[in-house]
Amino acid sequence: MIAALVLGWLALAPAGAGFTVAVDPGHGGKNCGGEGLRKGLYEKHVTLEIARRVRRNLLAERGLRVVLCREADVLVPINARVRCGNEAGARLFVSIHTNASPFGPSRGMQRGFEIYVLPVQGVDHDAGLAAIAPASPVDGAWAAHQVRATAVESLAAAQRIEWQMADALGSDRDRGIKQAGAKLDVLQGLKMPAVLVEVGFLDHPQDGNFLATEAGWDKIAGALSRAISDLRARELRGRTDPTITARTAPAR
Ligand SMILES: [Zn+2]
Repeated sequence: MIAALVLGWLALAPAGAGFTVAVDPGHGGKNCGGEGLRKGLYEKHVTLEIARRVRRNLLAERGLRVVLCREADVLVPINARVRCGNEAGARLFVSIHTNASPFGPSRGMQRGFEIYVLPVQGVDHDAGLAAIAPASPVDGAWAAHQVRATAVESLAAAQRIEWQMADALGSDRDRGIKQAGAKLDVLQGLKMPAVLVEVGFLDHPQDGNFLATEAGWDKIAGALSRAISDLRARELRGRTDPTITARTAPAR
């Protein structure tokens, strides 16, 4: 009886277990990323400043935990960032980067933010692998379903972030949600919805100056924090109304 009660409680436990988001400040240490307009300012500094602010903003939100995949100016390999998200049991992974135009005539001409998720094609490939690996076909179908459901949730997460970023920075800065073009290695192997946000162009005169100021970091962190809050609220609602979330069980 007690065992049944305990098991029943455990089955429900994840619903009350809170929401962890892994925030990944891109680059770090000798991997500086793009160079800013201000001397000595690199992408790795901007991403950490924004990530720290996101954590600070969300500190007071009960049941929400923010884990940073890099706390200081140190080199963190891609696989360690993936482990950071998976081992934290994160429900959402947000990698922060800044953009730059390629060297050449367009240098300094592009501006705005864009959000990346893994391409659906790659997800189908992963889903295929997930379906082949397990011992039983039912497990395989479930694993493949999970991979696809996570991809759908990644897109939903990207959309929330896009709305909040456009609200904060202006819809004319919105370059959209993309599935190719950035280095998306950090999103491979994650078990939760995951996005990579290019918050602005470090080499653009206005974007670059904005990204060198505390006001800029605050504004971007505010938008990301609101999006994370929204996504957590959405997940909480999804637990009582399964039509809201893509995390539904396959037919057996
Ligand atoms: Zn980067």
